Amino acid sequence: MKTNRIGNSVSFPALRLRRLRRTAAIRDLVQETRLSVKDLIAPIFVQDGIKRPRAIESMPEIYRLPTESLIDEIQSLFDLGLRSVLLFGVPLRKDDSASSAFDDTGVIQRAISLVRKHFGNKIVIATDVCLCQYTVHGHCGIVSKSGHVDNDSSIKTLAKVAASHASAGADIVAPSAMMDGQVQEIRAVLDSRGFSDVAIMAYSAKHASPLYAPFRDAAHSTPEFGDRRSYQMPFSNSKEAMREIEADINEGADIVMIKPAIPYLDIIHQARNATNVPVCAYSVSGEYSMIKAAAMEGWIDEDSVVTEFLTSIKRAGAGMIVTYHAKKMAELLNR
Ligand SMILES: [Zn+2]
Repeated sequence: MKTNRIGNSVSFPALRLRRLRRTAAIRDLVQETRLSVKDLIAPIFVQDGIKRPRAIESMPEIYRLPTESLIDEIQSLFDLGLRSVLLFGVPLRKDDSASSAFDDTGVIQRAISLVRKHFGNKIVIATDVCLCQYTVHGHCGIVSKSGHVDNDSSIKTLAKVAASHASAGADIVAPSAMMDGQVQEIRAVLDSRGFSDVAIMAYSAKHASPLYAPFRDAAHSTPEFGDRRSYQMPFSNSKEAMREIEADINEGADIVMIKPAIPYLDIIHQARNATNVPVCAYSVSGEYSMIKAAAMEGWIDEDSVVTEFLTSIKRAGAGMIVTYHAKKMAELLNR
């Protein structure tokens, strides 16, 4: 044993991790995790019955768009190198059976057709498949007479929604209702309707999180009664998250998703190690708005924090990230 310059006993040669941190060029050479614009998926809200983009108060710089603005917005993302979007519909009409969610002339179906027609296969169109924006009560499934969210009628409706998105031209349908068996039901209906090429990105481990609050403001999907804890996952459980992920893979999910992202890096890491299926992380509205709010107060540097957060999500094991910072991050990566 030798003694190093600061007096500690060390085995020779002395560990000098700082050698590889000395200059920016060296740090760049040894950088282990690199974000790419191709990793990012931009969520987009499309609202029926409006003529101009509507600001979302709790999500600065994010808008609900009319279908008329959709092509320009996606073109601006495309010009930055972004290639994937996740579309959410905000309909005019809500009812108990979420019928506007599977209406072939609904807002989301029109949006999908429009984007497909304009961009061909140059853009990956993923669509959120859920009922909460389309039901009067704002729950993600069909509510029975006894007042609980009924699993088996909900998955039948979700499969109809997925098929209508596929028919309009979606590449990927993303069921987010956290109903048991939803992936299997959707896969079966897509295959039976001739959409065996359409992939399923399952919101597998979607946690019941207060971080969704700004999204509910954006998508008009706040539940009228109760909350979503009887179907979304408790944030305290990681083994249960892995069971959800395993179940979705067994049911035919092509991509599994963990949501939210930053408080769930351990789950992303476990999912990455436990499976060879692509892993997506959804960095949610609350994660976005917290950074925005603090940056607007001048308390943090937005660019650096966004870069650190998104890089950390990738380092944890996510191969793709749904993020409201997609445009900002693409600008930073292009600099
Ligand atoms: Zn929902």
